[in-house]
Amino acid sequence: MTQPIAATLIRGDGIGPEVVGATLRVLDALGLSFSWDEQLGGQAAIDETGDPLPRATIESIRARKLCLKGPLGTPIAGGFRSVNVTLRQELDLYANVRPVKSFPGVPCRYENVDLVIVRENTEGMYSGIEHWVDRDHSAAESISIITRTGSERIARYAFEYARREGRKKVTCAHKANILKATSGLFLETTRGVAREFPDIRLEELIIDNMCQQLVKDPTRYEVIVTTNLFGDILSDLCAALVGGLGVAPGANIGHHAAIFEAVHGTAPDIAGKGIANPAAEMLAAVQMLRYLDRRPEADRMEKAIRAALADAGSRTGDLGGKANTARFTDAVLAAL
Ligand code: ATP
Repeated sequence: MTQPIAATLIRGDGIGPEVVGATLRVLDALGLSFSWDEQLGGQAAIDETGDPLPRATIESIRARKLCLKGPLGTPIAGGFRSVNVTLRQELDLYANVRPVKSFPGVPCRYENVDLVIVRENTEGMYSGIEHWVDRDHSAAESISIITRTGSERIARYAFEYARREGRKKVTCAHKANILKATSGLFLETTRGVAREFPDIRLEELIIDNMCQQLVKDPTRYEVIVTTNLFGDILSDLCAALVGGLGVAPGANIGHHAAIFEAVHGTAPDIAGKGIANPAAEMLAAVQMLRYLDRRPEADRMEKAIRAALADAGSRTGDLGGKANTARFTDAVLAAL
């Protein structure tokens, strides 16, 4: 008997319980055994404990080092910090990894896109140092901190990922021509790491040109490594190139823990109606299986999701179809 895989499960708010429930059905059907420790976060946690991110949730992830999570709502009023940002900082999840793939049948601008954005997740413009310069708020400043250590670990993550996944090129998106110290340090450090990976080519692109090139032809890119803010913007740009939020998964990975989730939010407008597209959450679980090196299961699951997406009768409303969450999930299970 193999040991079950221990992981924390956060069903989340809004459509979270629906898409996570659908994902669990598929994981079950794969024959993998998980031992889930269910924990609360977001609005569900506030309702129960008054705290959007209870200590028990963080400790559960710290102990199991693995978490599958639905979207969490953070109320705008009430002075709560974003739960997602807090989790990344508490657990030092320095790599935000977002695969961007086109799926046959899903309406999108480009076919054959298969790239991955590796975004630095802890520093840069998100260092949290921002303030007004004067009393009457006529000027403000924000400080971007880039460290050699932070740049090196994300660059190394990107190159190791490329090598593991059989990719041949890493593109560094930067603005070192203007931000000579911060972006310059990131670029120079990435070049240093690249020298340790002679089998993988480093391509360098200035961020504005990168945006233009991505819109023109995203199929040219394999792995893109970049700083926090540029990565945030590029991720959404790329998601829109291949069919949007319903099919966009993401992971937050650190040396001691990893959290897998759909990129979309809680979608309050459709919550509880049973019509949410669970594909993004399912694809996040695929990413989790690859991270766990359960490649055969990951490939099987991804293939089944692809097959369900390719069939117009099983696509959900966000992709122009008429199916509900259960019908899409049944189609994935049938394809398995
Ligand atoms: P939040 O405040 O949690 O970010 P939001 O509504 O601002 O919520 P999203 O949840 O990302 O942001 O939703 C944006 C739009 O995309 C909504 O109209 C939502 O219904 C739709 N959407 C997001 N995810 C899905 C999904 N999985 N299936 C179908 N529609 C979705």
